[in-house]
Amino acid sequence: MDYKSLLRDTIKVLPESQRAARQPKSSNTTPDIFRLNYNESMYGPSPKAIAALEEASKRPFVYPDWFSVDLKTNFAKLHGLPSMMNVCAGTGSSALISIIGEIFLNQGDEFIVGDPSYEAFRDVANVNGASVVVVPLDSDLQYDLDAMLAAITPKTKALVICNPNNPTGTFTDSAKLEAFIKKVPEHVLVVIDEAYLEFVTKPGTYSMVKLINEGYEKPLIVLKTFSKAYGMAGLRIGLAAAKEELITYLAKSGAAWNISALGQAMAAEALKDQEYLEKIVGLNAIERDKVTKALKEMGCKVYESQTNFILFKADVDSLEIQAKLAEEKVLIGAPRGFCRVSLGTSEMNDKFLKVLKTILGK
Ligand SMILES: *Cc1c(COP(=O)(O)O)cnc(C)c1O
Repeated sequence: MDYKSLLRDTIKVLPESQRAARQPKSSNTTPDIFRLNYNESMYGPSPKAIAALEEASKRPFVYPDWFSVDLKTNFAKLHGLPSMMNVCAGTGSSALISIIGEIFLNQGDEFIVGDPSYEAFRDVANVNGASVVVVPLDSDLQYDLDAMLAAITPKTKALVICNPNNPTGTFTDSAKLEAFIKKVPEHVLVVIDEAYLEFVTKPGTYSMVKLINEGYEKPLIVLKTFSKAYGMAGLRIGLAAAKEELITYLAKSGAAWNISALGQAMAAEALKDQEYLEKIVGLNAIERDKVTKALKEMGCKVYESQTNFILFKADVDSLEIQAKLAEEKVLIGAPRGFCRVSLGTSEMNDKFLKVLKTILGK
């Protein structure tokens, strides 16, 4: 049987997804394992959001609100957006990234990404037959914004910046990023992925949603997720903010109408509990300082993080460190020769540091 001939042309020639290749087995774990490899929030969501989830779970037989009105309205209010018509919902920002590819990318379009950065953007470019234009980060693993501007050609369709970036944890100053965005020509869709922006504690930081509020004309989409600081990774909720016309285009995808009732109820409530969010962000910053300092004391090269994870390099090979930590029930990431550890609770981080110390013989 020749099943392959049935495939869409872009799928026939698709390079293997790096994310898919990494996970041939279930990522479920038992509660005794410390999952410091997915940047999940070990603090979990606001108790008020959990109460909303429990309430919604009593009526699982009812279809969700197709337009996710409460969720979008609460988000628009929180960010000062003109209206809920400036917001699109997805099953995680992963779905919104796929929607952007489905709606905007033609075969042969160029999609500019930083490297290393979040792999979902490369995958979505490849799925849609666009070519990925890779711009390496600089030696401090910061975005090289000038090089990204220089990479723009008449064929460029989209450009993405994750701020802060994953897997590096590094942060581009907000005013600097705003100035960069304004230099990008209008034939290029700028996507700003703010999955970790809540965790940033640098003064003067703001969301690029500000530009949308100010009526910025050139094409800009800002992505937000409930998977990280809001502690709801399992519920799969993400949002995109943009000019109303761009949102109506995103909503042409069926995936924009497929948000679970449980996720909607929980996320809508979570947005109203900013006090809880601030508490989590404060705890995370304390742990971030502690782990950064301890890693430096062990002689590791640590990249300054503004997120809920830390990228570092030690003298020992990162895959070996990852394997030895896993033997002690601590999971971390090991992207491209680096180690990436998510910040958990104080207890989890202490155990990670203790085991690492033994591995490194410090
Ligand atoms: C974790 C993460 C997301 C969130 O993905 P979801 O699908 O919303 O869980 C988005 N972007 C980046 C850069 C991330 O690291």
